[in-house]
Amino acid sequence: GMTAQILDGKGLAATVRARVAAEVRQRFSARPPSLHVVLVGDDPASAVYVRNKERAAAEAGIAGAIHRLPAAASEAEILELVERLAADDAIDGILVQLPLPAHVQSARILAAIPARKDVAGFHPENAGRLFRGEPLGEVLVPCTPLGCMHLLGLSGVDPRGKRAVVVGRSAIVGRPMAMLLLAADATVTIAHSRTENLAAVCQEADILVAAVGRPEFVRGSWIKPGAVVLDVGSNRVTGVDGGSKLVGDVHFAEASAVAGWITPVPGGVGPMTIACLLENTLLARSFADAR
Ligand code: NDP
Repeated sequence: GMTAQILDGKGLAATVRARVAAEVRQRFSARPPSLHVVLVGDDPASAVYVRNKERAAAEAGIAGAIHRLPAAASEAEILELVERLAADDAIDGILVQLPLPAHVQSARILAAIPARKDVAGFHPENAGRLFRGEPLGEVLVPCTPLGCMHLLGLSGVDPRGKRAVVVGRSAIVGRPMAMLLLAADATVTIAHSRTENLAAVCQEADILVAAVGRPEFVRGSWIKPGAVVLDVGSNRVTGVDGGSKLVGDVHFAEASAVAGWITPVPGGVGPMTIACLLENTLLARSFADAR
């Protein structure tokens, strides 16, 4: 059978990061963009994500700091920190690493980040502007779906008029992904756990995005021959050798025999998420000049 072309997210992320670094030097040498990350508690996965973001930002010439609070920090203490960062004109981007401890209402914390500094794209104002179809270069949108759009661009497949199916409707991935595809003139279907005949829905897709959170959930038989498959899933599973490995929401071995283009896991969507955080920080920095 045919074999899909691999959409190399690692390579594309390096290109995006280099472009951000060049823009930082060329446009913002007087005051480089700054990104401040709030990390509450000691979740090991969050600690790794935050360290990776810090390293990528530093490599691109982006300034900033990580603000660590103990797991027992109260909602008021976290709010106080976010409000202090929000009020500081020298700070362009604020990212609160999720999940927050269970005793904290995340929505309250996230709403304290001014929309123009919301580099994660989670603020209701930014979500609303994306929903409204406002011009994309002017709105901070969530990093993972933005990264998926870049990967789609790498395939060379123009989404205009194409059938796109997004499996998953989370506020962080599925919904904004669908809005970005709609903005790019695709005909978009959002599927979820209540969708009937999911395999048949997916078979319609020229562009299939899987953001489900279930290892190897999308099978090869669900994929239209030649389709672009973007696999957002990042699931840690135990391999046959007893070691742990990362797999996507798509059954890669099956899907890559049918699809035209496919993102691997790891090395696909994951690295693009961080690269897009840097892109968003650059956009937030340009807002500071425009004010
Ligand atoms: P959520 O758990 O928030 O959402 C999962 C979605 O999948 C829901 O909308 C759910 O439907 C749907 N779903 C669950 N089971 C089924 C099913 N059997 N059939 C159809 N749809 C189903 O996850 P996220 O959106 O946050 O993340 C999705 C995946 O992407 C995860 O693997 C996560 O680890 C990964 N991820 C990777 C990132 C990266 O940078 N690579 C960044 C963010 C996430 P319903 O709404 O009906 O419950």
